[in-house]
Order: sequence, then structure tokens, then C-alpha cells
Amino acid sequence: MAADESNASVASALCTTSRFYLAIALDVPLPGLFDYWHIEPVPCGVRVLVTFGRRVMVGMVCEALDTPRLEAARVRAIDRVLDDLPPMPGDWMRLAGFAARYYHRSMGEVLMPALPASLRKPAAYLGSRAAGGPVCRADRRPGRPAQGQVSSVEVSVPTLNAQQQAALQALLSMKTGVALLHGVTGSGKTEVYLRLAQQILSQGRQVLLLVPEINLTPQLENSVRARLPGELAPLSLAVMHSNLAEGERLRAWLRVARGHADVLLGTRLALFTPMPRLGLIIVDEEHDTSYKQQDGLRYSARDLAIWRGHDLGVPVVLGSATPSLETWHRVNQGAYQYLSLSQRALAQALPEVHLVDTRRARLEQGMSPQLIEALAASLARGEQSLVFINRRGFSPVLRCNSCGWVSQCPRCTAYAVVHRHRAGRHTLQCHHCGHCTAVPRACPDCGDQDLQPLGQGTQRVEAYLTEQFPQARILRIDADSTRRKGSAAALFSQVHDGQADVLVGTQMVSKGHDYARLGLVGVLNADAMLFAQDYRAPERLFAQLMQVAGRAGRRGAGAQVLVQTDYPDQAVYQSLRHHDYTSFARSALDEREELGLPPFAYQALLTAQARHLRDAQGFLSEARECAMRLEAAKGVQLYDPVPVRVVRVANIERAQLLIESPSRRALHRLLDVWLPEVYDLARGRPLRYGLEVDPQEI
Ligand code: ADP
Ligand code: ZN
Ligand code: ZN
Repeated sequence: MAADESNASVASALCTTSRFYLAIALDVPLPGLFDYWHIEPVPCGVRVLVTFGRRVMVGMVCEALDTPRLEAARVRAIDRVLDDLPPMPGDWMRLAGFAARYYHRSMGEVLMPALPASLRKPAAYLGSRAAGGPVCRADRRPGRPAQGQVSSVEVSVPTLNAQQQAALQALLSMKTGVALLHGVTGSGKTEVYLRLAQQILSQGRQVLLLVPEINLTPQLENSVRARLPGELAPLSLAVMHSNLAEGERLRAWLRVARGHADVLLGTRLALFTPMPRLGLIIVDEEHDTSYKQQDGLRYSARDLAIWRGHDLGVPVVLGSATPSLETWHRVNQGAYQYLSLSQRALAQALPEVHLVDTRRARLEQGMSPQLIEALAASLARGEQSLVFINRRGFSPVLRCNSCGWVSQCPRCTAYAVVHRHRAGRHTLQCHHCGHCTAVPRACPDCGDQDLQPLGQGTQRVEAYLTEQFPQARILRIDADSTRRKGSAAALFSQVHDGQADVLVGTQMVSKGHDYARLGLVGVLNADAMLFAQDYRAPERLFAQLMQVAGRAGRRGAGAQVLVQTDYPDQAVYQSLRHHDYTSFARSALDEREELGLPPFAYQALLTAQARHLRDAQGFLSEARECAMRLEAAKGVQLYDPVPVRVVRVANIERAQLLIESPSRRALHRLLDVWLPEVYDLARGRPLRYGLEVDPQEI
């Protein structure tokens, strides 16, 4: 680097006219692009090493400038042009540009995190150990063709049924635009994706297949691999998700970006991979909230996928058994093509759903006698069962029976959850901040030793079932039991190989999995979501229950789903009982329309975090007043700032301000003029703030 620098300064001393000014995107929380110069022109989309303040950073050239926007003497030279990759392609730059505009972030905050980490770390290009840089190193390593356990399963390609055939035909004739493939659970949507993908691949084009969860990739990876045409098979699939090591991710990225891989299967981050021959985008389980990134750039991979497809003129297929209401609304408007698979591919029918009225049942560890009986019967038949409870740990709170003390997290407005460990040292863990302490032997307030865990989590259900059914093989699958890399894949393959009788799990087990021998699903604690404050709670609950119910009886007949609830008359449960998405969606949309909520309105959320709630709320109030003075605030509603539900997390208090308008354009116009003022307003204050467009949780 020293040589580069002296070259640059010699050049500038000799000939001040040969300075080419560049606007560079940097991942720093400041608006706009940053001016630098170089002795030669550098094309857009090229990465460069620059000194910013005292830090050396990797940035990307976004524009060539005729004149710098700073005083020329203050503009620095770039340190080095990173020429290990060709410039990022134009369509990729457009996608990032759109995301930056739509989510109101700087280009740098979008562009840089969208790259694999090794391509944006300056250390990888500095010093002697960086010889050649990460791309060279990746190219020297041959790279394993597959991730995870890919067993060589025997593939028999099924003949499509009439509905699948009709859907496939319609999709094949679709040259561009968006289609919703609305298929009940087990209807064989995957089969339709695969046939469609084969067609696109045979035209020499690439396919992007997005899935919500890492754990779904191995199963799908097998199916895709088995269908890839002929001799190229081991090379033409790339898999991408957040569990890949840095080198693996870079190698997969390079293969796709160079056009060497034909299919990219991945979670939301895969959306930002350059694909020179992209011909089709599929978003499986499009309703899934995992498509929304929850920190940093809060983008929706589904929405950006639709934009990318539109920009490139390639079709986008959204698949779901329970489409999001946004998507359903677009279908109703005639904006998306609608294709339906109403029959299961292998089973005669959908499972029977029974609502167990828990107001009348005597529960043991949260389980009704009906459920225990059904589990026993299922075990006797040699079938698998699933008990679904969306709460991990042993019990959600510990309580002192004599004084009423409860296990509150000292840093958050939330309870600390009881977790049991094999070694016997049980802990209290906060699921919001991670704070962890040993379970006290006696009440910290009154010294009484009678401390009781209240309520159930997966561990407690597992323990109880183990006691009830000592002969059964019980397997718990949740974030705790799958923490180690590869352990989720191992547990799921145990299930698929029939080495488990009863599965106890959180939503990890409910999504997408094709269980062959699952005859019974029991759902505990569903009501917890029913009365959540978020207006999307019923939609989420319904989708989640349809998903989990849909794991049952995918091969045979007579499968059952038992949902325990105190409120069997609620519309959500009644629609579930009849597997009636359409009526649920209709009534939910009617209600949203009446209340002026999305998809009939557009929202953004300004969130502030501070040590003291009054700082956060005061800032938001001022920001609100500032917006109301703007011309652009016409037609946009700004609500009063309120504390968020779990106000304090890790000793930081949080409040939010909701901004809403029936017009997307009006909302964004206001954000455009208002956010620079918010930025100024926040300067020097002891707080952080962030804006989320299309928030999923309020
Ligand atoms: P979905 O994703 O719609 O829930 P899947 O794609 O997992 O459903 O399909 C369910 C099962 O049906 C899978 O085991 C799949 O291999 C099988 N299947 C799909 N289509 C057919 C078909 N036309 N004939 C036979 N089996 C099929
Ligand atoms: Zn006590
Ligand atoms: Zn906490």
C-alpha cells in the first residue's frame, strides 16, 4: 500500500489535472456518497480501498464526478482499486439503488452488506498475509460441491396430476410478471417448481429459489440436485444461507455470479447475489416472516425479488398454502396471476382438525387427556406424532409461592425463562438480551425454597412425555437442541428415517417439511398469539397453524390435528377447522380495509433507543412535530410516539412512531424530505434511531 500511496501523491504533484473524482459508497451510518479521487477513471461497481477518518474501509464506486462536491484540496485519493473482481453488474447496482431509495438508506448501507463478508473486509487486502486476496484464495480451493448431508436418495420422478399440470402450463407460458401458486399443504408445489426450473435451465438460464429457513435447504437440495440435467449436476447447484463459513459463502457467490452455477437455493440473503443469466425467481412460503430482515437494512426479500423480476423482465413465482394478505390483495386486484392446487398429491384428504376446549379439560403439564390418548393411540399404531409449542425452555417463568417473586430479567421488561441442563445446573435465561444466571436455590426476596416453574416450554413437554411414554423415542427440536452447526440437519434426518416416535418442537418443525409418517399433530398454547397487540397476529397464527397442521397425514388417510384452545369459537380456529384460507383471508382483509390498515395503507416506523425512555420519546415527539410542519405531511398520518411492547431490552429503552398513509407515494415523499431533518435532530443526542419501511411488527 505504501507504494500505491507514494505513486498517487507523485502523480498528483506532477499533474493535478489527471484527477478523476469518484463518489464512493461506504457502509457508515451517514447519508450520501463520499468523494475521493484516483489517477485513472474507475468504473461504477468496482470496489476500492479508502481511508475514511482514520479507518481503512472497502467501498464501492457509484458515480464518476466532474467536480468534487468538497473543496478539491480536501478530497483524498483512494488507497487502492480492488481489481480481483469485474465491476458489479448494472442490474445488481440498480437493485441496490432501489433498495436504498425504498428503505431510505444510503447506498453504502445497502451495497456493502449485500456482499459476502470477505469482499468487504479491508484486512483481507492489507499486509502480507493477504497475498492475492480472498477471491484468489477461494479460486485456489476447489470447493466442495455440496453443503450439509446430501444423501443419494433414489429419485423417482412423479407424473404430475391434472392440477399440477395446469399450473405448470400456465407458468410456462408466463414470460414475465408475478404468479401466486396457492397450494394446500402437501399439494406438490415443489414438484411444480422443479419442472418449471428445468424448463428455464434448458434455455441456458439461471434459477433463484428462495426458502425461508436454513433447515429446509437439505431436503430441497436433494430434490433439486436429482433433477439437474445430466453430467453438470454436481456443479450447477449453489446453496447459500447464514450458516455457511465465510469461505464457503464466497465460493458459492462466485460460482453464481460468474454464471458457473445454474440454480441458487438460499435464504433471504441469496436475493442479493449477482446472476448474469437469471431467468426465474421462486419464493417458496412467500408469507413467511423470515423473508424480512430484522436488523440493519430491514428489507423484505420477497418484495425485492418481485422488483428484481420486474426489472429484468423475468417471471416471479410466489408459493404458499397461506399467502400473505398483501399477496392475496394483489391477486384480488388482478395484479398477480392466480394458480391453485387444492388437492394433496399423495393423501386422500387434509387431516381432520379438532379443537379441544381447554376450559373444560383437566390439563396435565398443559396437555389435555384427549391429546395424551391420541398420542398413545398413535404410538400403538407405530406412527409418528408432533407436539407443537412455540416456546422453548422448561417454563417461561419461575415464581415464589410465598411472596410472589417472579424471575424478571434485570435488564429487560421480560421474564427470565427456566432452562434445564443435563449436568443439572439449571439456569434462568432472558430470550431478549441473553442474560443468564443460575436458578436460585431459594427466593431472593423472602428466602423460601418453594420456587415453582409456571407454564410449559418444549423442555417441560419433552420431560412430561418421556415420563408418560417411557418406551417412546422422543425428540425435541428447537433453537436450543440445534445450536451446534449441523445438528438440525442430523435431527431432521433422524425424524425422516423413522428414528423418532414423538417430536416436540417450535415453529422450526412446522415449516415446509415433508414428513412421511406423521399421523398426529397436537398444538399447545396457540392462544398466546391470539390476543397479541399486533394487528397481524391473527394472520400469523392462522398461517402457523395451517403449516403445522399440514405436516400431518401427507401420505395416508385418517390423520388428526388437535388444537388446544380456550377460544374455540374464534374465527381463526373455525377457518382452520375447515382448512378454509379463502374465508379467513376475506374476513381479515375486510377488517383491514375498514380500519385502513395494510395492504390498504402503507406504513413506516421510526424507532428510537436510549438509556432513558423520556429521551427516546422526546426525540420522537420532536421529530413528529417537525414532520407536521412539512408540506409533504399532507395525506400522511403521524401517530403519537409510544413505548414498544418489551420497552427495555438490555437496559435500553425503546419507543416508536408510526407513520401511515393510504398512498405509498405520499408516504415516501414525506420520508424523503423529513429524514434529513430527523438526522439533524438526532445529532449529539444520547440515542440511536432507525427507520423501518413496511414494518412487520408494531
Ligand atoms: P407442498 O410443498 O405443496 O406442501 P410437497 O411438494 O412437499 O408439497 O409434496 C408433497 C409430497 O407429494 C412429496 O413427497 C412429493 O414428492 C409428492 N408429490 C408431489 N407431486 C406428486 C405427484 N404428482 N405424484 C406423486 N407424488 C407427488
Ligand atoms: Zn419469596
Ligand atoms: Zn433480558
